[in-house]
Amino acid sequence: MPPTMDISVIIVGGGPVGLTAAHAFSKLGIDFALLERRDIIAEDVGASIVLWPHGIRIMAQLGLLDQLLSIGTELMSGTFQTVNGKAFLRTSSPQLCKTKIHTSKTVTSISSVPGGGIKVLCLDGTSYTGSFTLGADGIHSVSTPKNLCLQVLANEKSNVQFCFLYQLLLPDNSPSKKFTQSDIEAIISRPDVSSRPLGGSGLTVKDAWRLKSKCGITPLEEGILKPEWHFGNQMVLVGDAAHKVTPTIGQGLNMGLLDVVSLANQVSEFVGSAGSSREKVLGGLDGAFRRYRAERLESVEKDYKRSGVVTRLTCWREWRFKLFDRVVMPIPGVDVLLVNKVNSPIMARGLVFRGIRVEREPFEGRVKWKEKMPLLDKTAHDEERKESGG
Ligand SMILES: Cc1cc2nc3c(=O)[nH]c(=O)nc-3n(C[C@H](O)[C@H](O)[C@H](O)COP(=O)(O)OP(=O)(O)OC[C@H]3O[C@@H](n4cnc5c(N)ncnc54)[C@H](O)[C@@H]3O)c2cc1C
Repeated sequence: MPPTMDISVIIVGGGPVGLTAAHAFSKLGIDFALLERRDIIAEDVGASIVLWPHGIRIMAQLGLLDQLLSIGTELMSGTFQTVNGKAFLRTSSPQLCKTKIHTSKTVTSISSVPGGGIKVLCLDGTSYTGSFTLGADGIHSVSTPKNLCLQVLANEKSNVQFCFLYQLLLPDNSPSKKFTQSDIEAIISRPDVSSRPLGGSGLTVKDAWRLKSKCGITPLEEGILKPEWHFGNQMVLVGDAAHKVTPTIGQGLNMGLLDVVSLANQVSEFVGSAGSSREKVLGGLDGAFRRYRAERLESVEKDYKRSGVVTRLTCWREWRFKLFDRVVMPIPGVDVLLVNKVNSPIMARGLVFRGIRVEREPFEGRVKWKEKMPLLDKTAHDEERKESGG
């Protein structure tokens, strides 16, 4: 067990980023309570999540890789196709402390407590106190003040396939719209949509709709919160609450995971160096929050830009995007070149928890990680295992 640090964090939101923070804090000896407004923690709302190598590596460092692999599947291919269905590009490509996770808890307000720390109030009247709140409550965070594209993600060995239909509905910068089930049905029943072929499968959107097990519709907002991601010493945001990107290249969660790593490193190192004075710890957290944002911002801005460009590219937002998408992208080798020259160097800069030691680096590839995972002292580790009979 790690030594316990003298701070406690109230995590608002039990989405994937909040839950990852909970795992990280339990590994680092940081006390926490997680408040999630839904009644169940893992609600299946229908969309898939693609984890990239730097995201999977974080899961491995938290000891969650085997569980993840047992419920996930390797992504074998992605297909982009024209509006007529012609495919023009295929790409290949510790038990968490459950008693600290509280569902059916909608956080309504957060206030400071005299002498330092915060108090979080929930809709059901309950309240929680801690050193600071970690806002992981997504795009509508309480913590913060006609072209159509089809994407199919598939694993040929699995029965599960994901179809994404993107449509540019609103001009950029328009306020977010809430969609309902009848909005989905209205879109699917449109003849120009329902008759759309799914690659070379012989199926149409209408067939996929008939065979579906889940469906959903969501506006794809984008933005990076400015000027800060923290409010004094008492609140800091991670994941979609701090930055929201369109999902076309599957980066949103991967970005949130890196936030958690960076923030956990900064907070645990600050608390470790601040000594035993509670006042000094609570009064200096904003420095750790600021360093977290400074470490993440450049990479977040790049991911934000890449996601936005690819979404506009696939929706043919402008003629130059259409030209690039239809003419340049299908050239054999362009996708591989982009992976090697753009994606790999970005992923190689993936962060790791400096306070969580592992037996070995879980993955090594052709492009080397910039930051190595901290390894267990082998002799001490063997002794420890012998003592515990492992
Ligand atoms: C269609 C689609 C496909 C995507 N595919 C990918 C992908 O392949 N790869 C990838 O990396 N990303 C992907 N993303 C993005 C990814 O889903 C998000 O980036 C990720 O879910 C963000 O996690 P989060 O925990 O920050 O926020 P959320 O997932 O939004 O979770 C926020 C949580 O906070 C809770 N909450 C909100 N308000 C309160 C409150 N007041 N009190 C208590 N709880 C509250 C909510 O109920 C929710 O559980 C996709 C997104 C979409 C829409």
